[in-house]
Amino acid sequence: QAKAAGRGRWVRYDPAMVAEESARYALSADMPDALERGEFTLVYQPIVALPGQKLLGLEALVRWRHPELGLLPPDRFIALAEETGFIVPLGRHVLRQACRQAAVSFPDHDLFVSVNLSVAQTQEDSLVSDIGEALVAAGLPASRLQLELTESALMSPHGAGLRALRTLADGGVRVAIDDFGTGYSNLAYLRSLPVHTLKLPRPFIAGLDQAEQGGAPAVEEQIVDALVRLAHAIDLTVTAEGVETYAQAQRLSALGCDTAQGWFLGPAYPPEQLRRLAVGQPATDARSR
Ligand code: C2E
Ligand code: MG
Ligand code: MG
Ligand code: MG
Repeated sequence: QAKAAGRGRWVRYDPAMVAEESARYALSADMPDALERGEFTLVYQPIVALPGQKLLGLEALVRWRHPELGLLPPDRFIALAEETGFIVPLGRHVLRQACRQAAVSFPDHDLFVSVNLSVAQTQEDSLVSDIGEALVAAGLPASRLQLELTESALMSPHGAGLRALRTLADGGVRVAIDDFGTGYSNLAYLRSLPVHTLKLPRPFIAGLDQAEQGGAPAVEEQIVDALVRLAHAIDLTVTAEGVETYAQAQRLSALGCDTAQGWFLGPAYPPEQLRRLAVGQPATDARSR
């Protein structure tokens, strides 16, 4: 069995690779039934204001509670689901569940829920109606939903359902660009997009600790500084991701970063704990999962 490997080499036969391939195949073949059985669930990570750490919203992060393999994080199955197209029904399930759990858990709050969308979802003709139905079914106002898209979803030549996103944004849904600065954004084009927030990825944020040690600011700090200024210049807000230390939160506040999330600010909570989170009580059993 010859197969073109990722690095452009030809591999004749590699039992480990064959085993991995068949494990991937088994996992992807399993997904539709797993969805039926309710094995895909969400956890929610707080997004807080800086400074002060007031809770503003939560990002929904999908997990697969696999009966044999245990709790699988998205990097074990999202790419697979994207390859097979299963990401579309899975993404629809995530949207509905996130809207419903947000509406149920925060009836008296303005908290928003932030949902990750894959490129394939943004290219579905039914995107606007899917989201509209999820909101109506849950009784959640559009203003309390944020969608997270990657740069490639927004900047792709297809326009990536750009018209759909405009319709959604006109209806009050917020749009964030996830992992901003890791793709190929057209900065001139950015201001014309229906986008409200830039989310800065963890590697940029991790570099902020070095800046504390004095001397010239680390290059990551200069990047964060520049991106916050850019965002504010075109009326966007900035969310820092992966904040793991007090020092990072401090630097981000000083740089004018609007909102943040990360283990220092709060782990991802199961839906049962959201109600307590909303009323400002620290939830018990707060470990991320
Ligand atoms: P993302 O949207 O950038 O999500 C942030 C990831 O960073 C999450 O990993 C979160 O658990 C993790 N994280 C949060 N705070 C910290 C921290 O302080 N330190 C570190 N080291 N990590 C932190 P997770 O849940 O494993 O998700 C990984 C990626 O999977 C997400 O990245 C997103 O791209 C994708 N994903 C998650 N849920 C969904 C979904 O429902 N649909 C789609 N299409 N993609 C999803
Ligand atoms: Mg995200
Ligand atoms: Mg991401
Ligand atoms: Mg991200």
